[in-house]
Amino acid sequence: MSKYWSPIVSTLKPYVPGEQPRIANLVKLNTNESPYGPSDKVLSAVTAAANGDLRLYPDPLALRLRETIAARHGLTASEVFVGNGSDEVLAHIFAGLLKHDAPLLYPDISYSFYSTYARLFAINAVEVPLDAQFRIDLSDYERPCGAIILPNPNAPTGIGLPLAEIERLVAAHPDQPVVIDEAYIDFGGQSAIALVPKYENLLVVQTFSKSRALAGLRVGFAIGQRPLIEALERVKDSFNSYPLGRPAQAGATAAIEDEAWFEATREKIIASRGRLTDQLTERGFEVLPSEANFVFARHPGHSGETLMQALRERAVLVRHFAKPRIGDFLRITIGTDAECARLVEALDEIL
Ligand code: PMP
Repeated sequence: MSKYWSPIVSTLKPYVPGEQPRIANLVKLNTNESPYGPSDKVLSAVTAAANGDLRLYPDPLALRLRETIAARHGLTASEVFVGNGSDEVLAHIFAGLLKHDAPLLYPDISYSFYSTYARLFAINAVEVPLDAQFRIDLSDYERPCGAIILPNPNAPTGIGLPLAEIERLVAAHPDQPVVIDEAYIDFGGQSAIALVPKYENLLVVQTFSKSRALAGLRVGFAIGQRPLIEALERVKDSFNSYPLGRPAQAGATAAIEDEAWFEATREKIIASRGRLTDQLTERGFEVLPSEANFVFARHPGHSGETLMQALRERAVLVRHFAKPRIGDFLRITIGTDAECARLVEALDEIL
């Protein structure tokens, strides 16, 4: 704390990212990165861009990337907004779209950046508890509010909502922006992007960090009708001039174009998730039904903290969540089959 800080800075509780340690032979299942790739085509595109003219500013509109994303969904570039990871896209959304007199609603437990941004942008927010099965119950969102944001599937539970339920929510709040954060949608969920032409209050956010294996490149995007995208452009243009560097624009474009790599990789991760869920269940874990590239699990005989530490001693990193409303869970990213096997071997020593 310093006397030079504004009062808002003193109240901030910044988001704490997962560890990125450099330990040899580490099995890193703590930050929901992809265990594969990225695709060779992405690597070539990034390399070519890096060897190209970095002296020059990138395209301030990131037009080729936005067109490529839009085309995949039968939309136009004007309906796509891009940023440095979906975290930055979310920051623009919070700054520009979610501040109203009535409260912003989001689930508890959910992606913890929502509460961080609500504080940073002085947004009046109400956290809506999950139901007893750790699901988002959308009937709890049938109340007056200024805006809604929720992840589908939710993080860190991994539990998804059917598209029909999302559509009912969006239709029930025609005067409020409804933001669906689809960071993990490609691992089994149904995207709400298909609803965008029908609902002008809907904004869908996705990332290249998970199913496209590009967490290190920092690219995310939002899709919505013009009025919402225009709001984000205004915020962004008041903040920076170039949304993405040249390698990021080139790599992300190539990633969208490599559909074969994308399909094969996400199918592998979904299959590994099924096997890991069975192995954890056989060992006494309760595993929530996941539509993401991670599972959320707890063991009746061992605290999450103890398990996380014991795994860490065996060079396996997982994330631990403990909250009065949800209890004590581990969030385990789906790794390669060899990495999942290392996790299970370590658990067999511990349990
Ligand atoms: N939304 C959710 C629900 C997430 O879990 C994450 C990853 N931490 C993000 C958004 C942000 O991802 P990125 O900034 O890498 O796109």
